[in-house]
Amino acid sequence: MDELAKRLRSARAILVLTGAGMSAESGLPTFRGDDGYWRNHRVEDLASPQGFARDPLTVWRWYNERIQRCRGAEPNAGHYALAQLEAMITNMTLATQNVDSLHARAGSKNVLELHGHLREAGCTGCNATLPLANGLDENLIDHSCGGRFRPQVVWFGEALPRDVWARAEHAAAQADVILLVGTSAQVYPAAALALQNDRAFIAEINPGATGLSERCDCVIREGAAVALHAMMKALRQKE
Ligand code: NAD
Repeated sequence: MDELAKRLRSARAILVLTGAGMSAESGLPTFRGDDGYWRNHRVEDLASPQGFARDPLTVWRWYNERIQRCRGAEPNAGHYALAQLEAMITNMTLATQNVDSLHARAGSKNVLELHGHLREAGCTGCNATLPLANGLDENLIDHSCGGRFRPQVVWFGEALPRDVWARAEHAAAQADVILLVGTSAQVYPAAALALQNDRAFIAEINPGATGLSERCDCVIREGAAVALHAMMKALRQKE
């Protein structure tokens, strides 16, 4: 932790990449963990364009349930710690694979939502959007233009939003420190962000090993809330 704090203090630019584990302590399940979504569902049914084309109602029922869960969840100490880090450091980018909006709710400003968000639905046929505060009414799935409303998230097999990805790649290339939090680093291209810069100090906060653990200069085997809170304490102590 001291080494990480030292690196953060001297860094000119930092990239933080977060995944589902970031929100586990807010009560939101991860995808691949023991309680993860994929234990009970088939990924290709719920999170792919083909699954949606086959059965939009089932997909929406699953997303509506997730939207309710996200609404009921609160940012945890880890989300707040990252917002504080951003306020302390001039050039920090927070790229998240999460769609739960908890980073913004904790006060983070420079957030890149690599996989979209659940704040609104977008029509597949035109540019219409619908707010998703309480999920989508099942009667509204089919749009009058002939398209269908779908969650504004990136599904398996789909490209990431181009401008968001370009900014994330730029931040990765500039970073002196890349901090990976709560991501299994199995979903590409997000995980590849950490591999684009040989010079950066790479740290991982995760209770388990990940696809990038071996590449890391520093590994903290703790949950995000405890570890990030401790990281901020270590940073402040030596200021
Ligand atoms: P993942 O499910 O593949 O991996 C979760 C990781 O979190 C694991 O490595 C696990 O060891 C770790 N973890 C579990 N508890 C933790 C804790 N308390 N603190 C820190 N780490 C913890 O998740 P991923 O890598 O983000 O997979 C990618 C996909 O999952 C993304 O596409 C993302 O959109 C999606 N996802 C998002 C949410 C959300 O928005 N909250 C929830 C589930 C999945």
